[in-house]
Amino acid sequence: MSLFNDEGFVITRSEWKESSLIVRFFTREHGKLNFMAKGIRRAKTRIGSFLDSFSRVKIIYYLKQGNDLASLKEAFTINLYPSLRADLRRFAAVSFYFEILDIGLAPHERHEDIFSLTSEFLDTIDKPEWVAESLPWYFLEIAGRLGYAPRLEKCFVCGTSQNLAHFDLDAGQCVCQNCRKDSEKVIPMPQYLASEIKGGVSNEGGSIALPSHALPDFFHFMKDFLEYRFEKRIKSGDFLITQMA
Ligand SMILES: [Zn+2]
Repeated sequence: MSLFNDEGFVITRSEWKESSLIVRFFTREHGKLNFMAKGIRRAKTRIGSFLDSFSRVKIIYYLKQGNDLASLKEAFTINLYPSLRADLRRFAAVSFYFEILDIGLAPHERHEDIFSLTSEFLDTIDKPEWVAESLPWYFLEIAGRLGYAPRLEKCFVCGTSQNLAHFDLDAGQCVCQNCRKDSEKVIPMPQYLASEIKGGVSNEGGSIALPSHALPDFFHFMKDFLEYRFEKRIKSGDFLITQMA
């Protein structure tokens, strides 16, 4: 059993027996990992209030090699990101991001690049001047870093960049009007989305911005695409789409 001095983002927390919590963190050192926080609800110790979802926390814990459950010894909030708790749109976006993270990350895998993306995403969304138009870049980026980047620049069959109004879920790529097959695995996609996004993905960190009227379509598309890839429902998707409308 080793003692680790680490930090992480709270993905989820659930009550365990009468007085304990099980908290899932995305940690810097060990990636996604579950923690047992024993007795903290009954004792009203300081730790419990440090474990709000999506907060960034300094954590000290015991972990046995090969064990799926770490034992939390101490926790201190680094950043609670108060703005996202006072604004439903920000909260919905962060919920969707963390659900993607939770489904997409394999347990116990260290991902330094995704950890820094998450840190940058939360810092940005917590700023007073944040605008929702900046969200798509982060979602394309997290999908890409998890290994699920949609390809939107051309028709994957004929190579044209015209009339890209559909997306082939199996191929993970756009398909043009002429090449598309009738299939439930081919979903409609507003044409402007492909042209807006393909120009933006190559831009420097965070600089792609879709116009706000495009956001519900964008998140509809990301939800359908990722649910198909994950073979799992992303529950917070519909809530985010309503918040963006
Ligand atoms: Zn085509």
